[in-house]
Amino acid sequence: MTVMVPSRTPALITPGQQALDSALHQLGQAAEHLGLDEGLRTMLATPRRSLTVSVPVRREDGRMDVVQGFRVQHNVSRGPAKGGIRFHPSTDIHEVTALAMWMTWKCALVGIPYGGAKGGVAVNPAELTTRELERLTRRYVNEILPLIGPEKDIPAPDVGTDEQTMAWIMDTYSVNAGYSVPGVVTGKPMTLGGSLGRAGATSRGVQIAALTALGRSPEGVRVAVQGFGKVGALAAQYLSDVGCTVVAVSDVGGAVHHAGGLDIADLRAHSAQTGGVSGYRHADAMSHDELFELDVDLLIPAALEGVITAANAPRVRARLIVEGANGPTTPEADEVLAANGTTVVPDILANAGGVIVSYLEWVQNMQAFSWSAAEVELKLRDLMQGAYGEVKSLAAEKGLTLRQAAHVIGVGRVAEAHQMRGLYP
Ligand code: GLU
Repeated sequence: MTVMVPSRTPALITPGQQALDSALHQLGQAAEHLGLDEGLRTMLATPRRSLTVSVPVRREDGRMDVVQGFRVQHNVSRGPAKGGIRFHPSTDIHEVTALAMWMTWKCALVGIPYGGAKGGVAVNPAELTTRELERLTRRYVNEILPLIGPEKDIPAPDVGTDEQTMAWIMDTYSVNAGYSVPGVVTGKPMTLGGSLGRAGATSRGVQIAALTALGRSPEGVRVAVQGFGKVGALAAQYLSDVGCTVVAVSDVGGAVHHAGGLDIADLRAHSAQTGGVSGYRHADAMSHDELFELDVDLLIPAALEGVITAANAPRVRARLIVEGANGPTTPEADEVLAANGTTVVPDILANAGGVIVSYLEWVQNMQAFSWSAAEVELKLRDLMQGAYGEVKSLAAEKGLTLRQAAHVIGVGRVAEAHQMRGLYP
């Protein structure tokens, strides 16, 4: 009997598989450049630990729903696993694996003593009540409990999770331990050991990366931001605070445009009130696709993976892209952008501000003291600019794109740690 095996056409590849394909492609390029042997390549291409769990949730009407959850520890050669937890309906094991791998390179690149991890629950948090979300979070944490801990694996916020989610995680873990363990999770509220500067840290890092890459006065620099959530909204705010003109922003519900510049504080208030940027009366509506093609100096994708592709990259007019999101640009799009002379500050560098301040939060928790907002920002700035400088000079020296150089540094450091430790047994 002939068994028909369906070919893996793009239509059959999930966004998660696409993200993992991109991550593996980037790893392959870096491994080739570094001359890593086959065994090490395979080790770095596969996660150290990967857990899929079923999470039963009691709904308000008494029904029980069961959703899938994941926690992937990609690598722990340089320290405890670290990475956020995503609540999103289309998340899957492939996406979480890709995101965990990117965390490994990101932590190595900015020189913080962590490996990489990521978690996800395939759910739309907007469709749950607060009490349902709390039950879901606590049960998910209970299922991944054997993996996490302040010296093992430290979760943090990501798409669809926030300070409140982190508080529930800290509490669930602490109740099980029998005492309070603030260092088990970062991105916590201030009252539970959160750090000053953590809430806006990813956006602050995006601002630092963008201004460093621009290398000129931000005055009059025209910016478009895709995504108006935790990262995009504050990145737009911080850039407009220093004189950039943010001409367009978008969120899931739509995009708005005003050539003279948007009042970001006012737009954030509108979005908080109405649930999105659409309908903002001091701007015109535009389509999601049009935002990527605007004649701007700086484009900031700050939402999900795979939004700049071979299909729209030829129409991108921005000279500079700073990736607030993880994995927004596909490898095919990268080639088009490089050929067109567009500079891309890659995700593992541009959005590292979040995990950098997570690290600072964890250090404060482990020592039971706290730094001022100014001290946190200074350390963030130092680490971001240091990493930027290293990436920029390696790229110039070896004729690499910033993404290739960032991966060579990140992957190289993890490979080196692994080689120094040797293989057990
Ligand atoms: N979710 C963020 C990221 O993708 C932050 C992770 C963390 O702070 O551990 O980098």
